[in-house]
Amino acid sequence: MSALSELYKEIVVCQRCNLAKYRTKAVPGEGAENADILFIGEAPGWHEDQQGRPFVGPAGKYLDQLLASINLKREQVYIANVIKCRPSSNRDPLPTEIQSCRKWLNHQIELIHPKMIVTLGRYSMAMFFPGKSISKIHGTAQRQDNVTYYAMYHPAAALHQQSLRQVIEGDMLKIPSLLAQSESMAEAEQQPQQLSMF
Ligand code: URA
Repeated sequence: MSALSELYKEIVVCQRCNLAKYRTKAVPGEGAENADILFIGEAPGWHEDQQGRPFVGPAGKYLDQLLASINLKREQVYIANVIKCRPSSNRDPLPTEIQSCRKWLNHQIELIHPKMIVTLGRYSMAMFFPGKSISKIHGTAQRQDNVTYYAMYHPAAALHQQSLRQVIEGDMLKIPSLLAQSESMAEAEQQPQQLSMF
């Protein structure tokens, strides 16, 4: 059994916060264990809580379409959330819940070791781009410790606000070239530094 599957076994019985009392199923995440790209959403909704799988409701259908626009299927990437259990009535996650759940996401990142992390919405953005505003930084990337971090609006936001559709679709289309760039930067970062000749 892979280390990621071992981790799922721990996540599905997690009791680190009160959300455990109300969940139907925890939603650890799914996708390719060696994915180049890790998408991180906010929290499971009703559909995800029922099925124990991330992004399977309307926002998930839209995410599938966005992935298809760059010739990717969800099985080729990894999809996870900031918190693994559904907050009741789809309320926003509490800071304490995010804090309690952080250890799971950190461990997933370590095991998947993605080249690129795409944050979907404000909550996952806040983890990697603290103090920034989504309306300012969506569609922009930042490189740190050999990983490219890229902020996008949450697909559900685009479903509720028609004007964001074009924005999120445009931001998605930038991912392939950012990934290619991140691969060539990783190669350069691994090369022994050349001495410049004068
Ligand atoms: N919204 C999220 O942020 N995550 C899901 O898994 C589903 C909807």
